[in-house]
Amino acid sequence: MNVDVAPKPLDILLVEDNPGDMRLTVEALREGKVLCKLHWVEDGVEALDFLYRRGKHVDAARPDLILLDLNLPRMDGREVLQHIKTDAQLRRIPVVILTTSKAEEDILRSYDLYANCYVTKSPVNFDNFIEVIRSIDRFWLALVTLPPKSDE
Ligand SMILES: [Mg+2]
Repeated sequence: MNVDVAPKPLDILLVEDNPGDMRLTVEALREGKVLCKLHWVEDGVEALDFLYRRGKHVDAARPDLILLDLNLPRMDGREVLQHIKTDAQLRRIPVVILTTSKAEEDILRSYDLYANCYVTKSPVNFDNFIEVIRSIDRFWLALVTLPPKSDE
């Protein structure tokens, strides 16, 4: 008989070009109760390489949750979102748009492309940022039932 005493950590893909925001995200997740592993990529092209397991990401984990910034170098988050939500293998993965943009156009466009939720972070207020990540952790990682990983 096998008993899983410790739950398998959840894999989170953070697509974010700001290293400061990456570090704050790690800090905030460390305080959460859910065991998780954060995978960080800095632009949209690398995000797709991770999701499609290309190049140096050939052994990448299938993420349970994606935190996606909109404004990214090389390929922006809107395009990444479109790829994810039009791919039958990827579209079940919840995508949280995490951006400083409050532009109505960005909000509407993200939901039109089937973002699972849209969250605005403050570009300057660290306390706000930490609280945003904690809230995402409490809701998406602790409360929500996530889809089972199909290919593992
Ligand atoms: Mg950015």
